[in-house]
Amino acid sequence: MAVFREEFDVIVVGAGVMGSSTAYQVSKRGHKVLLLEQFDFLHMRGSSHGESRTIRLAYPEEYYYPMVMESYKLWEEAESHIGYKVYFKAQQFDMGSSEDKRLREVIATCQKYSIPHEILDRQQVSDKFSGSFDIPDNWVGVCSSDGGVIKATKAVSMFQTLALQNGTILRDCMEVKDIRKDGVKGGVWVYASNGEKF
Ligand SMILES: Cc1cc2nc3c(=O)[nH]c(=O)nc-3n(C[C@H](O)[C@H](O)[C@H](O)COP(=O)(O)OP(=O)(O)OC[C@H]3O[C@@H](n4cnc5c(N)ncnc54)[C@H](O)[C@@H]3O)c2cc1C
Repeated sequence: MAVFREEFDVIVVGAGVMGSSTAYQVSKRGHKVLLLEQFDFLHMRGSSHGESRTIRLAYPEEYYYPMVMESYKLWEEAESHIGYKVYFKAQQFDMGSSEDKRLREVIATCQKYSIPHEILDRQQVSDKFSGSFDIPDNWVGVCSSDGGVIKATKAVSMFQTLALQNGTILRDCMEVKDIRKDGVKGGVWVYASNGEKF
Protein backbone atom coordinates (compact mmCIF):
# COMPACT_ATOMS: atom_id res chain seq x y z
CA MET A 1 0.00 0.00 0.00
CA ALA A 2 1.41 3.41 -1.05
CA VAL A 3 1.35 5.93 1.79
CA PHE A 4 1.16 9.60 0.78
CA ARG A 5 4.08 11.45 2.35
CA GLU A 6 2.23 14.61 3.41
CA GLU A 7 -0.22 15.04 6.27
CA PHE A 8 -3.33 17.16 5.94
CA ASP A 9 -5.48 19.20 8.30
CA VAL A 10 -8.56 18.43 6.20
CA ILE A 11 -9.28 15.76 3.58
CA VAL A 12 -12.36 16.49 1.47
CA VAL A 13 -13.96 13.49 -0.23
CA GLY A 14 -15.83 14.36 -3.42
CA ALA A 15 -15.09 17.25 -5.78
CA GLY A 16 -18.57 18.37 -6.71
CA VAL A 17 -19.57 21.96 -5.97
CA MET A 18 -19.83 21.28 -2.22
CA GLY A 19 -16.50 19.53 -1.84
CA SER A 20 -14.67 21.93 -4.14
CA SER A 21 -16.04 25.03 -2.39
CA THR A 22 -15.23 23.46 0.98
CA ALA A 23 -11.64 22.82 -0.13
CA TYR A 24 -11.40 26.46 -1.25
CA GLN A 25 -12.89 27.88 1.94
CA VAL A 26 -10.78 25.72 4.25
CA SER A 27 -7.55 26.31 2.29
CA LYS A 28 -8.26 30.05 2.32
CA ARG A 29 -8.12 29.87 6.12
CA GLY A 30 -4.58 28.52 5.89
CA HIS A 31 -5.25 24.82 6.40
CA LYS A 32 -3.46 22.10 4.47
CA VAL A 33 -6.14 20.44 2.37
CA LEU A 34 -6.43 17.34 0.17
CA LEU A 35 -9.38 17.06 -2.24
CA LEU A 36 -10.14 13.53 -3.48
CA GLU A 37 -12.50 12.69 -6.35
CA GLN A 38 -13.41 9.20 -7.50
CA PHE A 39 -13.87 10.15 -11.17
CA ASP A 40 -12.13 12.71 -13.44
CA PHE A 41 -12.41 16.30 -12.24
CA LEU A 42 -15.41 18.07 -13.82
CA HIS A 43 -17.00 14.73 -14.71
CA MET A 44 -20.69 14.54 -15.57
CA ARG A 45 -21.72 11.69 -13.29
CA GLY A 46 -22.60 13.70 -10.16
CA SER A 47 -24.96 16.61 -9.54
CA SER A 48 -22.72 19.63 -10.09
CA HIS A 49 -22.04 19.64 -13.82
CA GLY A 50 -23.76 21.62 -16.55
CA GLU A 51 -24.64 25.09 -17.64
CA SER A 52 -26.99 26.29 -14.93
CA ARG A 53 -28.42 25.93 -11.47
CA THR A 54 -30.96 28.40 -10.19
CA ILE A 55 -30.36 30.34 -6.99
CA ARG A 56 -32.92 32.53 -5.28
CA LEU A 57 -33.35 34.81 -2.30
CA ALA A 58 -37.01 34.00 -1.63
CA TYR A 59 -37.20 30.33 -0.70
CA PRO A 60 -40.33 28.95 0.98
CA GLU A 61 -38.08 28.17 3.95
CA GLU A 62 -37.38 31.62 5.37
CA TYR A 63 -34.22 30.48 7.15
CA TYR A 64 -32.44 30.38 3.79
CA TYR A 65 -32.55 34.18 3.47
CA PRO A 66 -29.55 35.02 5.69
CA MET A 67 -27.58 32.10 4.23
CA VAL A 68 -28.26 33.19 0.65
CA MET A 69 -27.31 36.79 1.50
CA GLU A 70 -24.04 35.49 2.91
CA SER A 71 -23.52 33.22 -0.09
CA TYR A 72 -23.92 36.14 -2.52
CA LYS A 73 -21.02 37.88 -0.79
CA LEU A 74 -18.94 34.70 -1.01
CA TRP A 75 -19.78 34.14 -4.70
CA GLU A 76 -18.72 37.71 -5.41
CA GLU A 77 -15.51 37.33 -3.44
CA ALA A 78 -14.57 34.09 -5.27
CA GLU A 79 -15.39 35.68 -8.63
CA SER A 80 -13.16 38.64 -7.82
CA HIS A 81 -10.27 36.26 -7.07
CA ILE A 82 -10.69 34.14 -10.19
CA GLY A 83 -11.48 37.04 -12.53
CA TYR A 84 -14.67 35.74 -14.19
CA LYS A 85 -18.33 35.42 -13.33
CA VAL A 86 -20.24 32.28 -12.40
CA TYR A 87 -23.35 33.94 -10.88
CA PHE A 88 -25.71 35.81 -13.16
CA LYS A 89 -28.38 37.78 -11.37
CA ALA A 90 -32.00 37.56 -12.54
CA GLN A 91 -35.52 37.83 -11.22
CA GLN A 92 -37.09 34.70 -9.77
CA PHE A 93 -40.53 33.77 -11.09
CA ASP A 94 -42.81 31.33 -9.26
CA MET A 95 -46.37 30.46 -10.18
CA GLY A 96 -49.10 28.31 -8.74
CA SER A 97 -52.49 28.25 -7.11
CA SER A 98 -53.07 31.24 -4.86
CA GLU A 99 -53.84 28.66 -2.13
CA ASP A 100 -50.56 26.79 -2.64
CA LYS A 101 -48.73 26.47 0.68
CA ARG A 102 -45.20 26.73 -0.78
CA LEU A 103 -46.08 29.76 -2.87
CA ARG A 104 -47.63 31.46 0.14
CA GLU A 105 -44.44 30.73 2.06
CA VAL A 106 -42.39 32.36 -0.72
CA ILE A 107 -44.58 35.47 -0.43
CA ALA A 108 -44.26 35.41 3.38
CA THR A 109 -40.44 35.26 3.04
CA CYS A 110 -40.52 38.27 0.70
CA GLN A 111 -42.68 40.19 3.15
CA LYS A 112 -40.65 39.26 6.23
CA TYR A 113 -37.32 40.31 4.67
CA SER A 114 -38.61 43.16 2.49
CA ILE A 115 -37.49 41.39 -0.67
CA PRO A 116 -38.84 43.42 -3.61
CA HIS A 117 -41.58 41.34 -5.25
CA GLU A 118 -44.73 41.55 -7.34
CA ILE A 119 -47.79 39.32 -7.09
CA LEU A 120 -49.38 39.05 -10.52
CA ASP A 121 -52.77 37.76 -11.65
CA ARG A 122 -53.32 35.82 -14.87
CA GLN A 123 -53.48 38.88 -17.13
CA GLN A 124 -50.48 40.57 -15.51
CA VAL A 125 -48.41 37.39 -15.92
CA SER A 126 -49.38 37.22 -19.59
CA ASP A 127 -48.52 40.91 -20.10
CA LYS A 128 -45.19 40.65 -18.29
CA PHE A 129 -44.03 37.67 -20.33
CA SER A 130 -45.49 38.74 -23.70
CA GLY A 131 -48.13 36.03 -23.61
CA SER A 132 -45.65 33.18 -23.05
CA PHE A 133 -47.44 32.01 -19.90
CA ASP A 134 -51.18 31.48 -19.62
CA ILE A 135 -51.81 30.48 -16.03
CA PRO A 136 -55.24 29.40 -14.73
CA ASP A 137 -57.55 32.04 -13.25
CA ASN A 138 -57.03 30.83 -9.68
CA TRP A 139 -53.22 30.98 -9.99
CA VAL A 140 -50.84 33.83 -9.29
CA GLY A 141 -47.31 34.58 -10.39
CA VAL A 142 -44.71 35.87 -7.95
CA CYS A 143 -41.72 37.80 -9.30
CA SER A 144 -39.03 38.39 -6.71
CA SER A 145 -35.68 40.10 -6.93
CA ASP A 146 -32.18 38.69 -6.47
CA GLY A 147 -32.49 35.24 -7.95
CA GLY A 148 -30.37 34.05 -10.81
CA VAL A 149 -28.27 31.35 -12.30
CA ILE A 150 -25.00 29.75 -11.23
CA LYS A 151 -22.88 28.31 -14.04
CA ALA A 152 -22.41 24.92 -12.44
CA THR A 153 -19.32 23.36 -14.07
CA LYS A 154 -17.62 26.73 -14.25
CA ALA A 155 -18.24 27.24 -10.52
CA VAL A 156 -16.73 23.86 -9.65
CA SER A 157 -13.72 24.64 -11.83
CA MET A 158 -13.39 28.05 -10.15
CA PHE A 159 -13.36 26.57 -6.63
CA GLN A 160 -10.83 23.89 -7.61
CA THR A 161 -8.53 26.47 -9.20
CA LEU A 162 -8.74 28.77 -6.17
CA ALA A 163 -8.18 25.85 -3.80
CA LEU A 164 -5.12 24.84 -5.84
CA GLN A 165 -3.80 28.40 -5.67
CA ASN A 166 -4.15 28.19 -1.87
CA GLY A 167 -1.96 25.08 -1.79
CA THR A 168 -4.64 22.37 -1.85
CA ILE A 169 -3.53 19.03 -3.31
CA LEU A 170 -6.12 17.77 -5.81
CA ARG A 171 -6.31 14.10 -6.80
CA ASP A 172 -8.89 12.65 -9.15
CA CYS A 173 -9.61 9.04 -10.13
CA MET A 174 -9.22 8.37 -6.39
CA GLU A 175 -12.19 6.54 -4.92
CA VAL A 176 -12.26 6.59 -1.14
CA LYS A 177 -13.27 3.22 0.21
CA ASP A 178 -12.56 3.53 3.92
CA ILE A 179 -11.72 6.04 6.66
CA ARG A 180 -10.19 4.77 9.89
CA LYS A 181 -9.00 6.38 13.10
CA ASP A 182 -5.31 6.17 13.90
CA GLY A 183 -5.42 4.87 17.47
CA VAL A 184 -1.80 5.85 18.17
CA LYS A 185 -1.18 9.24 16.51
CA GLY A 186 -4.77 10.48 16.47
CA GLY A 187 -6.36 11.73 13.26
CA VAL A 188 -7.60 9.44 10.52
CA TRP A 189 -6.33 7.41 7.58
CA VAL A 190 -8.21 7.66 4.31
CA TYR A 191 -7.97 4.60 2.07
CA ALA A 192 -8.46 4.71 -1.69
CA SER A 193 -9.52 1.72 -3.74
CA ASN A 194 -6.28 1.84 -5.79
CA GLY A 195 -4.31 1.01 -2.66
CA GLU A 196 -3.15 4.52 -1.76
CA LYS A 197 -3.50 5.72 1.83
CA PHE A 198 -3.60 9.36 3.01
C1 LIG B 1 -30.34 17.99 -13.05
C2 LIG B 1 -30.18 18.74 -11.75
C3 LIG B 1 -30.68 20.02 -11.63
C4 LIG B 1 -30.50 20.73 -10.44
N1 LIG B 1 -30.97 22.00 -10.34
C5 LIG B 1 -30.69 22.74 -9.26
C6 LIG B 1 -31.02 24.12 -9.22
O1 LIG B 1 -31.53 24.69 -10.17
N2 LIG B 1 -30.70 24.82 -8.09
C7 LIG B 1 -30.09 24.21 -7.01
O2 LIG B 1 -29.82 24.90 -6.01
N3 LIG B 1 -29.77 22.90 -7.03
C8 LIG B 1 -30.05 22.17 -8.12
N4 LIG B 1 -29.68 20.84 -8.17
C9 LIG B 1 -29.02 20.29 -7.01
C10 LIG B 1 -27.54 20.67 -7.00
O3 LIG B 1 -26.98 20.56 -8.31
C11 LIG B 1 -26.83 19.72 -6.03
O4 LIG B 1 -27.41 19.91 -4.75
C12 LIG B 1 -25.33 19.96 -5.94
O5 LIG B 1 -24.72 19.96 -7.21
C13 LIG B 1 -24.74 18.87 -5.06
O6 LIG B 1 -23.36 19.04 -5.03
P1 LIG B 1 -22.48 18.01 -4.24
O7 LIG B 1 -21.06 18.48 -4.36
O8 LIG B 1 -23.05 17.80 -2.87
O9 LIG B 1 -22.71 16.60 -4.99
P2 LIG B 1 -22.05 16.06 -6.35
O10 LIG B 1 -21.97 17.11 -7.39
O11 LIG B 1 -22.77 14.79 -6.69
O12 LIG B 1 -20.58 15.74 -5.90
C14 LIG B 1 -20.26 14.63 -5.10
C15 LIG B 1 -18.91 14.16 -5.60
O13 LIG B 1 -18.41 13.18 -4.70
C16 LIG B 1 -17.77 12.19 -5.48
N5 LIG B 1 -17.70 11.00 -4.65
C17 LIG B 1 -18.74 10.28 -4.15
N6 LIG B 1 -18.30 9.24 -3.45
C18 LIG B 1 -16.93 9.30 -3.50
C19 LIG B 1 -15.90 8.47 -2.95
N7 LIG B 1 -16.19 7.38 -2.22
N8 LIG B 1 -14.61 8.80 -3.20
C20 LIG B 1 -14.30 9.91 -3.93
N9 LIG B 1 -15.25 10.71 -4.47
C21 LIG B 1 -16.55 10.40 -4.25
C22 LIG B 1 -18.66 12.07 -6.70
O14 LIG B 1 -18.01 11.42 -7.79
C23 LIG B 1 -18.99 13.52 -6.97
O15 LIG B 1 -18.05 14.11 -7.84
C24 LIG B 1 -29.85 20.11 -9.34
C25 LIG B 1 -29.35 18.80 -9.48
C26 LIG B 1 -29.50 18.13 -10.66
C27 LIG B 1 -28.94 16.73 -10.79
